Amino acid sequence: GSARRCLRLEPGAAREVLGAADTLLFDCDGVLWRGDAAVAGAPAALSRLQARGKRLCYVTNNSSRTRDAYAEKLRRLGFPPAEPRQVFGSAHCAARYLRQALPPGAAAYVLGGPALGAELRAAGVPHLGPGPAGLPGPGPADWARAPLDPAVRAVLVGFDEHFCYAKLCQALRYLQRGGPGCLLLGTNRDHRLPLEGGAAIPGTGCLVKAVEMAAEREAFIIGKPSRYIFDCVSSEFKIEPARTIMVGDRLDTDILMGNNCGLTTLLTLTGVTTLEEVKGHQESDCPSRKSLVPDYYVDSIADLLPALED
Ligand code: PLP
Ligand code: CA
Repeated sequence: GSARRCLRLEPGAAREVLGAADTLLFDCDGVLWRGDAAVAGAPAALSRLQARGKRLCYVTNNSSRTRDAYAEKLRRLGFPPAEPRQVFGSAHCAARYLRQALPPGAAAYVLGGPALGAELRAAGVPHLGPGPAGLPGPGPADWARAPLDPAVRAVLVGFDEHFCYAKLCQALRYLQRGGPGCLLLGTNRDHRLPLEGGAAIPGTGCLVKAVEMAAEREAFIIGKPSRYIFDCVSSEFKIEPARTIMVGDRLDTDILMGNNCGLTTLLTLTGVTTLEEVKGHQESDCPSRKSLVPDYYVDSIADLLPALED
């Protein structure tokens, strides 16, 4: 297709672009809210979109909340009421993948938090963890002799605040024992999670990389930019890519997924990306950098409000 140009979406163009769409997929953190505060004007913009009959879905790489928790957070921050089935988090989608991919009776060894466990339970996927490593003895030599569950045929790595060497040992042992017959999945590869004031904490990508390095193999990624998470949306709703807009704040996840899946892509500058970064990609000759350039940008999704007035 023709080169994407990252045009500012002014009200006139916004009316046209929104008019041609029947579905909007929203990334959450950095687009709808930052931490625990809604982006000013974002709840009103989504309410108007919904009132105009647009289908709204929420697509997030965060594996540390369930669909239900997202629906509750949207409600609490004043967004239009959402059903859990409109929420596509990497925890829910990982559970969905395993439900289809694991042979009957097989289980997953899971590094993650309670929400990942809850989504696996809801999908009926047998699993060990998430939780403490719980291995016997004081050190790695003892852990290497700890019993392995015979049912485990997959290792799933999500956001795990209690990630540790013992869990890394166990993940490697399951992957070595199962060989290529043991699945290796990561919820996402986000390398950092930004905090207010420029601070950041290491993201799930760091944990996935540790397991990949130990196992000498590459994980299958569930979340953005993988098209698997978009396929989950498509299998739940009738999606026409040409009538769908992906709205995100991150180029290497949200925008790349949208571009790869044939969606219209809209970058908002309320999150992690600056226009200077986009410019760098635009001016580059490298095709893989060009696919990080969105079709349009806004300073904030509140900028869509004038285009949604009667
Ligand atoms: N992973 C974790 C653990 C997070 O806390 C977040 C954001 O809060 C993300 C990923 C990124 O989420 P999103 O895809 O909604 O920006
Ligand atoms: Ca985001």
